[in-house]
Amino acid sequence: MSSPTAAVKLPRPKKLTPMMRQYLEIKDRHPDCILFFRMGDFYEMFLEDAVLASSLLEITLTSREKGKETAVPMCGVPHHSAANYIAKLVERGHKVAICEQVEDPKAATKLLKRDVVQVVTPGLVTDTEMIDARLPRYLAAAVATGRDGKVAGGWGMAYLDVTTGEFRAADVGDGERLSEELGRVGPHEVLFGGDAVDEVPAWIGPGVRGALVEEIPELAAAKKLLSEHFEVPGLEGFELEGLGPGLVAAAVVLDYVERNHKAALPNVHMLARHVGEAMFIGEATQRNLELFQTLAGGRRQGTLLWLLDRTKTAMGGRLMRRWLAYPLLDTVEIDGRQGAVAELVARGDTRKRMRDTLREVGDLERLSGKVAMRSANGRDLRALGRSLGALPELLALLGDSSSALIRQTLGSVDTLDAVRDLLDRALVDDPPTAVADGGIIREGFDGEIDELRAIQKGGRGWIAELQQAERERTGISTLKIGFNRVFGYYIEITKARLGGDNIPENYERRQTLTNAERYVTPELKEMEGKVLGAQERANALEYQRFCELREEMALHLESLRRTSAAIAILDVVGSLADLAVERRYVRPHVHDGYELTLSGARHPVVEAMIEEERFVPNDVNFDRDTKRLIVITGPNMSGKSTILRQTALVALLAQMGSFVPAEAARVGVVDRIFTRVGASDDLARGRSTFMVEMTETATILLNATDRSLVILDEIGRGTSTFDGLSIAWAVAEHIYEIGARTLFATHYHELTDLSRTLEAVENMNVAVKKWQGKIVFLRRLVEGGVSRSYGIEVAELAGLPPVVISRAKKVLENLETAELDETGLPKFAPPPLEAEGAKGRQLDLFLGGDEVKRKALIDELARVGVEELTPLEALLQLDELRKKARELGQKGGGNK
Ligand code: ADP
Ligand code: MG
Repeated sequence: MSSPTAAVKLPRPKKLTPMMRQYLEIKDRHPDCILFFRMGDFYEMFLEDAVLASSLLEITLTSREKGKETAVPMCGVPHHSAANYIAKLVERGHKVAICEQVEDPKAATKLLKRDVVQVVTPGLVTDTEMIDARLPRYLAAAVATGRDGKVAGGWGMAYLDVTTGEFRAADVGDGERLSEELGRVGPHEVLFGGDAVDEVPAWIGPGVRGALVEEIPELAAAKKLLSEHFEVPGLEGFELEGLGPGLVAAAVVLDYVERNHKAALPNVHMLARHVGEAMFIGEATQRNLELFQTLAGGRRQGTLLWLLDRTKTAMGGRLMRRWLAYPLLDTVEIDGRQGAVAELVARGDTRKRMRDTLREVGDLERLSGKVAMRSANGRDLRALGRSLGALPELLALLGDSSSALIRQTLGSVDTLDAVRDLLDRALVDDPPTAVADGGIIREGFDGEIDELRAIQKGGRGWIAELQQAERERTGISTLKIGFNRVFGYYIEITKARLGGDNIPENYERRQTLTNAERYVTPELKEMEGKVLGAQERANALEYQRFCELREEMALHLESLRRTSAAIAILDVVGSLADLAVERRYVRPHVHDGYELTLSGARHPVVEAMIEEERFVPNDVNFDRDTKRLIVITGPNMSGKSTILRQTALVALLAQMGSFVPAEAARVGVVDRIFTRVGASDDLARGRSTFMVEMTETATILLNATDRSLVILDEIGRGTSTFDGLSIAWAVAEHIYEIGARTLFATHYHELTDLSRTLEAVENMNVAVKKWQGKIVFLRRLVEGGVSRSYGIEVAELAGLPPVVISRAKKVLENLETAELDETGLPKFAPPPLEAEGAKGRQLDLFLGGDEVKRKALIDELARVGVEELTPLEALLQLDELRKKARELGQKGGGNK
């Protein structure tokens, strides 16, 4: 569980000012938050908060009451730009408590009353300016119940995006499944609680805040809390039958939000089930396939989502992520999505115009959320109006669609013409963000506002005329009439021009500046009263009209939500179609059988990243009786991992409804994709221990079915050659029994011998050519295994010194003469099928001691991570290798 380190508590000052006493009282109530303490136009932070925040925000750390006994460290930010600073702290996993002056400064006599009005946490941000528009912002809870036998046991989880109101729950069973599911949901903050908190999985990545909830409600209490929030007698209307711990988790989420947000949550209007039937993509798989983040660096660029997401709207972007995270299992539903994509692929002009129109549509979902929370400002309402304005065009463009999905989707678009017309008439083109300072309501919308504005305008004209008249009367050409907040309108005369008697009698002096005097006259004050009064009343009236508009919009939230969901779907299918056309994808045939045939398949991301070089397409074919397990051999860097991943990605794309990068594809529905990527390839996580590798392998063996797709990339690398090879062999046999479609890439060419005993094993290799003694990668997958690893050739390509290379070749030669056992069979193969009964399965894994060392040395050499080494490390490793090679050399290099 990751949580930013809390600041070390600083000693409190020896003497407290009354204000500091108030501060500490509030701070004590929010010990885990950075407290933003409002003082005038600033939010101030004190003590440890100040030390921490000043370094995180790169602002100056000062001291209040410097040098005195009451001194404390302090830093501050202006309130009008506080949002940026809060966002920064929250992105780093901190919670920020916003403490306001809850009393009018004018009315207060001494210390102002202050209170925390809202706590912003990583998973609970309502200000959409602070967060990524293309990502959901989930606060999640995971609770374990039933260890004491009270409730049907296991983990429950729930997650909520307060900006959109999306709120979902599920019972997920064991901890393993929980982390898989939460991994896909991608929450920014997770609350844990219940009976098994010590089992909390360590998967939560950096930037995700985890916190423990001491007490979780019983199921009955949870149901009560939820019903009360939704103002319903029971939860029957929500289709949540049978949910246990999931509801408890939902209650934990809601309770946390209510305590921290401290305002009504009308936006959180329903609780839905987590997901229907979807392909299961484990957390490791999601990582290995680089769906949302690259393995190295955790970036978006280079991921499948990065390639896929060409959506034009924020809600479309979020839906694309969701479709990718939850590929479908139901062929009819998949076909429906494909139909929509196909139609937009075929109708290029419609697609382009639709996508241009979508660009006009703002984030309807989060804008509606703001309306629901009554936090929408004039600009937001204007954006809503504009978005609605684009809808009729979309309807017209797609009206004659033959895709059932598109037609059904259009059916839930509500253009809300009357509302849009109202917004158009009521709001100025570019309203300010402040809602109480006027300038929002359009001229001509409200007679009273117009009248008040006329008075203001008239008054100002009168004042301008007065200036002219007074200049003439006094003969002072530099006389001017100005305005400030404190003194209102005044007449200003520079000292240089102040003679004795040219100041008229009705001028009353108000203010003396270094080089000017300011005066007022009774008429000026009278007019000022009219102007300012009119302005104040106009502002108040504008605010009132604005609030009425917002209430009017709130009446249509349900339509807005449905419309927004529909637009997101159109946006996603349009985006998929656009990609399909540009990258020449085809519509895959997704069916309920076992067969998985990809012809001319490419890796979608690698293909896009290596533009100049040509990506070499490959064929992969699975069939229950003849090709269940495909063993792919070939040297390092030949393209094995790429083929494995592209096969998984094509299946995934196919089941999310997308077209796929291939010439033709038939995909038998995959229920789960499992990947195991060998230790050396899993560098980014820095946790490439053998143990982790085996844990992940165990997960596959325990959970794969005959409908699964299993990708095993170099398993068994993290241990000695023989251990690794033995494990790899046994794992392959076991998965073969399960019947999962399996691609097994390995540099253990011994594994090709599996096909001698197992019917449906196919050996393939990625072709390489030796040319002028060097290795050339052809990237072509061809039938048959390779009898050797070419590790030395690749090492040579990577620049290992010639002496080492030639020595390694010699060692290898020696080793290879001992390849067959005394019966003439390959060392690692069981006897052929006919002979099995007679001889039994006995593997001869024993070689002479020196040979073991030699083999280990070669293996070590082949595994040298040249790309990752610094020159110095490379030299040291080389020296090490040479020492070992010499040691063996001195023993004479004989075979048994
Ligand atoms: P291996 O797993 O065999 O070590 P990789 O699959 O990691 O090899 O491929 C190494 C590199 O080769 C990839 O990063 C990619 O740039 C390139 N590559 C792989 N497959 C192809 C292909 N089919 N066409 C073109 N380049 C490829
Ligand atoms: Mg590889």
